[in-house]
Amino acid sequence: MITDDTSPTSPTTARRALLRGGMAGAVTLGGAALGTAPSSAATGAPGAGPRTTPRPGTAEAALRELAAGNRRWRTFRERHPDETPAVRRSLTTGQQPFALVLGCIDSRVPPELVFDQGLGDLMTVRSAGEVLDEAVLGSVAYGVLELDIPLVVVLGHQSCGAVKATVQADLTGTSLPRHIQYLADQITPYIDRTKEGDARVDSTIDATIRAVRSRLAAEPDLAAKISAGELAVVGARYELTTQLVHRIA
Ligand SMILES: [Zn+2]
Repeated sequence: MITDDTSPTSPTTARRALLRGGMAGAVTLGGAALGTAPSSAATGAPGAGPRTTPRPGTAEAALRELAAGNRRWRTFRERHPDETPAVRRSLTTGQQPFALVLGCIDSRVPPELVFDQGLGDLMTVRSAGEVLDEAVLGSVAYGVLELDIPLVVVLGHQSCGAVKATVQADLTGTSLPRHIQYLADQITPYIDRTKEGDARVDSTIDATIRAVRSRLAAEPDLAAKISAGELAVVGARYELTTQLVHRIA
């Protein structure tokens, strides 16, 4: 738990109110503004209305929502939820995203699209190869600890260029340009040298996802949330060929 400063005029309280948007916004988002709508809305026009399912409040419910959204995406039945003027207005007073996705920067894997979610639904943190650094860790911690997001998804993907470049540099013994080398340094420990060629890249992608997931789950503040049943951190992978997101155990 983060220590709450009860002084209404303190910078800490002001900051948290600013970032979180206050309880009024949270209640609105969890209630009527984005409440349950008939399932027939699924056939409506893109961006036609608020959520068609209640906002997930648990990791299990969040996973189900993401799975349903990915199913819509890969079957070309996107709903493009939470884009309407009413939703945009409601979000001016706060946000209550139900999942945090830590994904790669790859232009082919935007979390809001591949999970068919809209404004206010996902907090997204992206770095090449889902590599962790202090800024990424701080961003994930912010979402979990300050916004009480119940689910973190570490989302890797097929044919990840960051992993490919790392495997290639490892094979040839070459250095990458400054800052890009930092990314490779983070991925290199997880290179699967038991495999060759594309299989090595593919296996290393999975290993990277597992490593990042484990590292996040071991962060003391997040581990405490996991122990309390308030958070799940899962690994997943997006396949460019099928557009399917599947869990990486
Ligand atoms: Zn990538």
